[in-house]
Amino acid sequence: MIYDEQNIFAKILRDEIPCEKILETNHAISFNDISPKAKVHVLVIPKGPYIDIYDFNKNASKEEVVGFWNSVNETIEKLQIEKKGFQLKAHKGEAGGQEVFHFHVHILSND
Ligand code: AMP
Repeated sequence: MIYDEQNIFAKILRDEIPCEKILETNHAISFNDISPKAKVHVLVIPKGPYIDIYDFNKNASKEEVVGFWNSVNETIEKLQIEKKGFQLKAHKGEAGGQEVFHFHVHILSND
């Protein structure tokens, strides 16, 4: 599978479509999921063109990987859920329920 530059998250990264942004760092942006499945439902995406978590883990540089996961933690702190708790999810491929083929982590939390 080749990365599709027209996927919806690539368009969000290019500011072609809006999002409710929570945080932006050098390596990632986070924003509210358009169809929330929990009280807090935020997506974190790397700025680089990675299709899914497997592609990201295999092909991203160490700097991108560290920058991405630091951005996940910064998002968690901004949401003030680091003590209450949360769930992280990453879907990979159609058999994994992935709908948007730009790597993203879901942060979900109910209190
Ligand atoms: P998945 O690929 O299965 O991990 O899920 C993709 C997620 O992206 C779903 O939870 C959608 O609700 C969410 N989503 C789709 N389009 C947008 C959008 N324009 N802005 C924010 N979230 C979106």
